[in-house]
Amino acid sequence: MENLNGSLKILIDHEQIQKRVTELATAIDQDFKDKDLVILCVLKGAFIFCADLAKNIKSNVDIEFISVSSYGNETVSSGKISILFESTQDFKNKNVLIVEDIVDSGLTIHSLLELLQKRGASEVKVASLLLKREKLKKNIVIDYIGFEIPDHFVIGYGLDYQGRLRSLPFIGYF
Ligand code: 5GP
Repeated sequence: MENLNGSLKILIDHEQIQKRVTELATAIDQDFKDKDLVILCVLKGAFIFCADLAKNIKSNVDIEFISVSSYGNETVSSGKISILFESTQDFKNKNVLIVEDIVDSGLTIHSLLELLQKRGASEVKVASLLLKREKLKKNIVIDYIGFEIPDHFVIGYGLDYQGRLRSLPFIGYF
């Protein structure tokens, strides 16, 4: 088996991530004070970020999951997502926080925002652990950003390389 860990460099270590996640949770608590909140975790990449974030949020939250494929079989984004799995379709009149691992072109989040609008959500905000701002193609607002990073392909803390390395506790790159 190829040893991928050997050539990895750390971009953001575990401590930095935990500190930032706590700060984001505090900001989310302030914004959603006295409101019920549905956290929509975008699988698979956001599962660790979402769990850590949810543990630190004191407001009353429901947690739902969605899995989307942004690019189908194409290497270049078609701008359309297909839904592979969703734990609920009930977003009517709900306050929703989409939780993503990374925003790159922004096409996935843009499509998810449209979907939630169609489903009748009353308020939708977006939290992303990472943002590659220079790659953004869509004019979207990311309300809670963990870290802005340069255009590296990153892995760890939920993000994979060909299905592997998701369980690393830090964000790294090759
Ligand atoms: P977008 O639609 O914003 O272009 O892409 C978002 C999705 O692309 C992310 O949820 C993630 O699955 C994938 N992605 C984008 N950049 C990276 C990266 O650097 N590393 C990994 N592992 N996935 C990425």
